[in-house]
Amino acid sequence: MPRVNTKLVCWEEVVDWCRKLAEAVEASGFKPDLIVSIARGGYIPARLLCDFLDVHDLVSLQVLHWGKAAEITAVAHVKYPYDLNLSGKRVLLVDDILDTGDSVIVARDYILSRWKPAELKIAAMQWISSVAKIKPDFYVEEVKDWIWYQYPWTRAEDTTNFFEKIISERVKEQKSEWSYEELVNEFKEWYGIDVGDSYYKLAVKRLKKNGKLEEKEGRYRVRY
Ligand code: AMP
Repeated sequence: MPRVNTKLVCWEEVVDWCRKLAEAVEASGFKPDLIVSIARGGYIPARLLCDFLDVHDLVSLQVLHWGKAAEITAVAHVKYPYDLNLSGKRVLLVDDILDTGDSVIVARDYILSRWKPAELKIAAMQWISSVAKIKPDFYVEEVKDWIWYQYPWTRAEDTTNFFEKIISERVKEQKSEWSYEELVNEFKEWYGIDVGDSYYKLAVKRLKKNGKLEEKEGRYRVRY
C-alpha cells in the first residue's frame, strides 16, 4: 500500500476534464468574457478552457498556499497584487483543484473587491468535497477521499519533493546512503506511481544541485 494516496495524471485526462468542464459551463448558460487563472495550477486548465469556450481574454493571479511534497506551508495570499478594471465583465476563475479551497477564496475575494467584475464563477477539474471550504460552480470530479493529483505540470517538482521527503524520513532511521535504484523503488512504494526514469534523473540532479545529496562512486550520500 502506498503511504501517500497519489494519482498519476496524464495529459489526455487533463484535456478530457477541461472539455467536460467547458461543456458544463456552456450548459449553464454562463458566458464568460474573461478567464482568470490561478497561478500556477490553473494555467493549463484555463488555457484549455479558453480554447473550448472560445474566450480570448486570459489573465492570471498568483496565489501562494501549498509548499513542498503535498504540505501546506503558508496562509493563502496574493503574491503579486495588481489592479484591473473589470466592470461589466463576466469572469470565470479557474484552478486545477479545490483542496482546502483557500486559494480560490482568496482569489475570488481579491477580484470581487479590487477588479469589480459584473459576475464571477469558479471552475476546477477536481473538488475535494470532504475538505474544501467552498464548492466550485463547475467541476468534473468530486473527490471524497483525499488524494494528491500528480498533474503533468508539477511532475519534476513533485518528484524532487517526494524524494526529499523519503530521504529526510529515512535518515531518522539512520539510512544515509542510497543507490539510484533504491530511491526509485522507495518512491514507487511510497507513492504507488511510476513517473519514469527521466523525472527520477531530473529529481536526483536537482537534489545534488541544491546540496541535499552528494554522489560518490555511483551512490548518493544524504547531506544534512
Ligand atoms: P487549495 O488552496 O488548498 O485549494 O490548493 C491550492 C493549490 O495547491 C491547488 O490549486 C493545486 O495547485 C495545489 N494542490 C492542493 N491540493 C492538491 C492535491 N490534492 N493534488 C494536487 N494539487 C493540489
